[in-house]
Amino acid sequence: MVTGPPDEYLDDLNPTQREAVLHTGGPLLIIAGAGSGKTRVLTYRIAHLIHHHRVSPWDLMALTFTNKAAGEMKERVERLVGVAARDMMVGTFHSTFARVLRREIEPLGYSSRFTIFDEVDSMRLIVQVLDEMGLDRKRYHPRALKGVISAAKNEMIDEESFAHAPEDFFAEVAAQVYKSYQSKLREHDALDFDDLLLVSLNLFELYPSVLERYREKYKHVLVDEYQDTNIVQYRLVKMLAEEHRNLSVVGDDDQGIYSWRGADIRNILEFEKDYPDARIIKLEQNYRSTGRILSAAGAVVVNNVGRKEKTLWTENPAGEKVRYHLASDEHGEARFASAELERLVSEGRRYDEAAVFYRTHAQSRVLEESLVRLNMPYRIFGGTRFYERQEIKDVVAYLRLIVNPKDEVSLRRVINVPARGIGKNTVAALDAYAARIGAPLMAVLRGAGDVPGLSARQQKCVAGFVGLIDGLADSAEELEVGELIEQVWTRTGYMEELESMRSLEAEGRIENLKELLGVVKDFQSEYGAVTLDDFLERVSLVGETDDLETDAGYVSLMSVHNAKGLEFPIVFMVGMEEGVFPHVRSMESEEELEEERRLCYVGMTRAEELLYMSHAATRSLWGGLSANPVSRFLRELPEECVEEVIWRDEGAAEDEREGTSLEVVKGDVVSHAKWGPGTVVGLTELDNDVELTVDFESVGRKRLLLSYAPLTVGTDPLS
Ligand code: ATP
Ligand code: MG
Repeated sequence: MVTGPPDEYLDDLNPTQREAVLHTGGPLLIIAGAGSGKTRVLTYRIAHLIHHHRVSPWDLMALTFTNKAAGEMKERVERLVGVAARDMMVGTFHSTFARVLRREIEPLGYSSRFTIFDEVDSMRLIVQVLDEMGLDRKRYHPRALKGVISAAKNEMIDEESFAHAPEDFFAEVAAQVYKSYQSKLREHDALDFDDLLLVSLNLFELYPSVLERYREKYKHVLVDEYQDTNIVQYRLVKMLAEEHRNLSVVGDDDQGIYSWRGADIRNILEFEKDYPDARIIKLEQNYRSTGRILSAAGAVVVNNVGRKEKTLWTENPAGEKVRYHLASDEHGEARFASAELERLVSEGRRYDEAAVFYRTHAQSRVLEESLVRLNMPYRIFGGTRFYERQEIKDVVAYLRLIVNPKDEVSLRRVINVPARGIGKNTVAALDAYAARIGAPLMAVLRGAGDVPGLSARQQKCVAGFVGLIDGLADSAEELEVGELIEQVWTRTGYMEELESMRSLEAEGRIENLKELLGVVKDFQSEYGAVTLDDFLERVSLVGETDDLETDAGYVSLMSVHNAKGLEFPIVFMVGMEEGVFPHVRSMESEEELEEERRLCYVGMTRAEELLYMSHAATRSLWGGLSANPVSRFLRELPEECVEEVIWRDEGAAEDEREGTSLEVVKGDVVSHAKWGPGTVVGLTELDNDVELTVDFESVGRKRLLLSYAPLTVGTDPLS
């Protein structure tokens, strides 16, 4: 075991934090405000257990809210106690229990290579169910049904019990959809996100001997962000810790923001009831934010009636006031944020010190455009990103199909991608036959010769596809994941098709595919050898909220929900308007409003030094134009904590020019706002834009989109 310098890391902690770290065993609750070191204590506690109490790293389970948080925790523990930390079971609830299920699920009738369906896959499956039931997707929104099913699962209501007492017609339909969705998941040997937890719970309930093994194995269980656990998570934790009772949980009731996903704040508030002998520790010193940011955030959350009073103070300097700005519209707001960011960077700040938070993902597009215009590097966390991109989903679907031929969602996704002559009619004929003989689709593909109504040519196309998948499955046995991915895109003709398109968009998609190899590399450097199953598991789990790499030098864009647990020197909160934040759907009940207020508190308390909050006089969002009053949360800020920033929006005039597009021909000399003069060497007309290739004197050859690039014709931008 590790022998290092004697516990000197304890010096990094204040006396109360140290007490929590030194707590030997038995239930421990740390309930404390933002930035008080809860996550730090949990991390140090793990290190201390390993280092001082000789607990081996594989004997403890730490549950975090995001993969990113898990990665950081591992890294820090590793820094404290060395590489042994790599073997720790640190992860999100979903990834941790997915790992458990890989080993234990077989008695429940799934194979150990089950597929994990992410949100998009689940949605496709629901659409398929609706189609088969002959239900109109416009009347029965797949998203709403997915929400109902997910809510039921989070409350541990299975498809049988759900069907018992339908309240209305919609619930009756939902019950049928739930049933069919569930049986299809089974047919596909697949679990959705909610199932990962629910099935684990069933496993432990049905097989006490399995539970017993895990109880013995994980002698310490630690949970971060405990205020956001739902009943399923609560039960899992409780079951695992029941005997040894070495359970440490940390959280903040003021930061509970997932009740819409079934999270129950009572789990943390009633911890003492569950564990009357629990040691309870409160941390009161905030190390993250300036005095003013802390007072401002405190002044907002204090308006919640249903909360436990708590003290939070800091020794940090008072710092700057919260900077408040009113923009003309959402574009002006985005220009303000990017211009301020640019100014800060010109004063020596780094891009990665800054983050922009919004209430809904839809708000990101305008911000992105504005950042692109100023050539500022940014990255989006959560929302539609890397793993949701078409080409990534396609290649991943191939990989999944190779692993699990029963995965029909993946099969349908790629059966004719790229086009290989297996069109709708062919698939319909195959489907009809599969239904008639009651066989899985892949089996029918194999025997396509028996399917009535298929021409010889169609049969040949199908046989070609089966051969392709079989060939890849054979290769999968021998090749490394990265090599296999390359085989997928060459042998399927996917890459060739993209290359032949020769557009900027196709090029971006090729880059994304290549980035997938980067993902594999990252996994390998983190975990050593990576099998295809490991890879697919990570990919489906990462997809949801967070990203893999932590690139330096990017502004981070994310929803406030995704910002939980993180911290940034500079934070922008945009869209501080009634109807946006608080969200229009949450304005009807006091409880939901309080949750929005907690969300605002979470956002504000991410800021270390500078906090901007802005709103717009008018806004186009979700397809409509509105003039929203300023958010009540802004009005709740005490005057002495806020200052208004007046900013002259010169970009507004620039935007008006936008319509009269710049005329450029090959050979023109142009000037770019950042890269200076260059010569246009290539021009490609796209649907709504022109792609330029320009040789710049300063940076060499670059490709640009005419509508985005800050370009003028001629060398002098003022001429
Ligand atoms: P949140 O509620 O937002 O999750 P938290 O309570 O988990 O916050 P941490 O993220 O653990 O707080 O800590 C906030 C910041 O303060 C981190 O940068 C952490 O490293 C730092 N910090 C915590 N405790 C100390 C300490 N005793 N001395 C110096 N820095 C500290
Ligand atoms: Mg934390």
